[in-house]
Amino acid sequence: MASKKERELIFNKFGGKCAYCGCELLKGWHIDELKPIRRNRKWDRKKRKWLYDGTCKHPERLHIDNQMPACASCNINKHTLSLEEFRKLVGGFLTSLNRDSTQYKIAKRYGFIEEVVKPVIFYFETVQSQQSEAN
Ligand SMILES: [Zn+2]
Repeated sequence: MASKKERELIFNKFGGKCAYCGCELLKGWHIDELKPIRRNRKWDRKKRKWLYDGTCKHPERLHIDNQMPACASCNINKHTLSLEEFRKLVGGFLTSLNRDSTQYKIAKRYGFIEEVVKPVIFYFETVQSQQSEAN
């Protein structure tokens, strides 16, 4: 668990914004491990759910240098994915919306949605490239 001071440092890494989508972080924001730590879990047959024992496969990654401020939805979607796996997932959202979401398809036909095909660039990557240009 990050201390209050560490949480504050992580929150401020990208000006109080989600490292991935760039939205303003709200109360209840998450700390994501950029390189996933992969928490150890066991399936509990009686409770019919995964139980985490508090250990993980990569405890060395529980470090502020690897910890990113994330909104709940980015953190939940990234889950244990690597950055490139997450990029692939986000990049596929348009395909799955067009395939699976009737509301999306109707909204598109009514002209509410304009699709843009472009590479997935995370907010922290934009910030980092601006910082390196400034230096
Ligand atoms: Zn986000």
